[in-house]
Amino acid sequence: MDPRVSQFMAMIKSRNPGENEFHQAVQEVAESLIPFIEENPRYKQAKILERMAEPERTIIFRVPWLDDKGDVQINRGFRIEMNSAIGPYKGGLRLHPTVNLGILKFLAFEQVLKNSLTTLPMGGGKGGSDFDPKGKSDNEVMRFCQSFMTELFRHIGPDTDVPAGDIGVGGREIGYLFGQYKRLKNEFTGVLTGKGIEWGGSLIRPEATGYGVTYFAQEMLETRGEGIKGKTVSISGSGNVAQYAAEKVTEYGGKVITMSDSNGFIYDPKGINSEKLNCIMDLKNIKRGRIKEYAEKYGCEYFEGKRPWIVKCDIALPNATQNEISEEEAKLLVKNGCICVSEGANMPSTPEAVEVFLNARILFGPGKASNAGGVATSGLEMTQNSMRLPWSREEVDERLHIIMKNIHKICVKYGTKENGFINYVDGANIGGFVKVANAMIAQGVV
Ligand code: NDP
Repeated sequence: MDPRVSQFMAMIKSRNPGENEFHQAVQEVAESLIPFIEENPRYKQAKILERMAEPERTIIFRVPWLDDKGDVQINRGFRIEMNSAIGPYKGGLRLHPTVNLGILKFLAFEQVLKNSLTTLPMGGGKGGSDFDPKGKSDNEVMRFCQSFMTELFRHIGPDTDVPAGDIGVGGREIGYLFGQYKRLKNEFTGVLTGKGIEWGGSLIRPEATGYGVTYFAQEMLETRGEGIKGKTVSISGSGNVAQYAAEKVTEYGGKVITMSDSNGFIYDPKGINSEKLNCIMDLKNIKRGRIKEYAEKYGCEYFEGKRPWIVKCDIALPNATQNEISEEEAKLLVKNGCICVSEGANMPSTPEAVEVFLNARILFGPGKASNAGGVATSGLEMTQNSMRLPWSREEVDERLHIIMKNIHKICVKYGTKENGFINYVDGANIGGFVKVANAMIAQGVV
């Protein structure tokens, strides 16, 4: 490792002990940025990277609620307000038992660069709780959300901090959170994104991350004269991002052969077409069942406790969670002929896996670029809320598509090496950094 990166990381680790995912995310960015910062001393003098790795504000709070039996339950709530140099804090809320401070700081740190890449005026933040919505009744989820917002409301606002959904937070949860915010503040504003279409939401927001990740894959493929049409595509996850990525891939003429959940994956070599995808949407969004049931219904293979990367594919879209592609799995993907990985999830590839992809010179789109379509469309929702004017499906989708093309251009600008190889990791890190860094310098030491 570059000694300047090791020295920087030693400082980060001693200030943030035990926050492994945060260390991982910062290190990946530092590896791209430190050589760039050395060439641009004004960023070094202003200690921009050191400042960006320290949240502007961290809020941790108790979330007590009553379950259906009348027993008191206690969870921990978080909001990391990471950076507001280019706009109000913006980033999702995650409800999952694995949530802790280190995971949310990693996500908030990534979010700052991602939001900058979207070209929209949004700072970065992230939040959530170790509450597990799985197996809870609607009433329990509602009571939890109301309690969570009863503290969070004093820290957020349409010009301050605008949360959205993430793992475990979909339309139902955003509704309960918004209802409680409105009641406490007596204000109907665009304080959350991912809202229902009847009450301030944007068309295409549910589809945006999955569509965006597919648009980004298509852009990357086009740099090599290729496209999604006719390719086999392995997808992990079966939640929001995975579902709409599968929809868009199919629309482009690609064949989706896998999807998964935290228990295992299904392998359908005939392809998960739109009719079968509708069944997955119904299974996951309405019945809240397990992906295994798909294999039973359509008579295909199901691999319990396994991830999809063992199957041969041309394109991989990891759309479930962080660190879901290991070094061995990355090697297997490359060996099996995979030419493109576009990350829908945040940091789904381990650092070792990323190295395998870069060394193999395949097309690798890191999440902060390839999955930025979700937050970009949240930004478009904020714009529509401010204008009090909704846009049509086509208008939002077209803007989303343009934004993904622009993000790709920024990556090409900052990530193209002398030999012509586009390192999208460097491209996204440096491209996202420059705008935030310049704003921070302009605003002084704050
Ligand atoms: P959902 O909750 O809708 O779906 C998550 C999916 O991943 C589910 O299939 C879930 O399976 C699976 N999963 C969750 N945790 C694990 C785990 N530890 N191991 C294996 N599988 C797991 O979330 P989203 O689709 O919204 O988010 C997926 C990823 O995309 C996350 O990394 C998120 O941060 C990222 N992302 C999401 C955006 C959005 O707009 N929604 C925007 C940008 C990034 P199960 O059903 O068993 O829990």
